Amino acid sequence: MRISWSLGSWLPVLRRLPDGGPKQIALTIDDAPTPDATPQMLDLLDRFGAKATFFLSGCRAEPHLDLVAEINRRGHQIYAHGWEHIRLDRAGPERLILDMDRCEALLSRFRPTPFPYLVRLPQNGGYRNTTVHRALARWQPGCQFAHWGASTEDHLISPRCTSAADVEPECRKEVDRLLAAPHLSGAILLMHDQPINERPGAEHKAAVTVTLTRLLLEGLTAAGFGFAPITPLAAQPVWARFALI
Ligand SMILES: [Zn+2]
Repeated sequence: MRISWSLGSWLPVLRRLPDGGPKQIALTIDDAPTPDATPQMLDLLDRFGAKATFFLSGCRAEPHLDLVAEINRRGHQIYAHGWEHIRLDRAGPERLILDMDRCEALLSRFRPTPFPYLVRLPQNGGYRNTTVHRALARWQPGCQFAHWGASTEDHLISPRCTSAADVEPECRKEVDRLLAAPHLSGAILLMHDQPINERPGAEHKAAVTVTLTRLLLEGLTAAGFGFAPITPLAAQPVWARFALI
């Protein structure tokens, strides 16, 4: 078990639903929106009655404000994933706050800024960095890191597909792996809308995103899972501000 210590600076880091009922899972979708995958993802989520939590990249959202409005209109949660998709934890606190603030300013045109705010930085950078935690606490007091307890590893699927025929079997492999994983119930699950940091040259990205979403929703539903948005932690135990597990 890894423990990181601080002098009381750690914000809550969520990996699971704090009070998830039996067989609940929280779908989280990073790097959205994209015009060739988001609309189909939204239709699939509706078909399965699933509400997800989206972490939007400002640079992708700005040219597609209609998609931001649509994600919000369909009842999903939206939070900032920075403006540019860079390691904001390495860019210094000022740049970190500037990027998050610029993205949230865009999102706040569509819904009130949520409280407590859920933060997921590009590549989850800085979730064990006290400078990042302190900067975020100044930016949005009471905010919490939305980490994950399970990952689709979807950024690795598209590079494995040499033709369109590979998309469905490669997606199915990951879904089968996930469904067999222990502790899936109550987990926050990481997935992407066409991962920005995928290996260059990866084709079939949109097809992988849409196919994986469909197979996941089918597989999880057949296994009896329900879908819940992430709920922030109501109260952080005092020790958790000092020791991050
Ligand atoms: Zn990302």
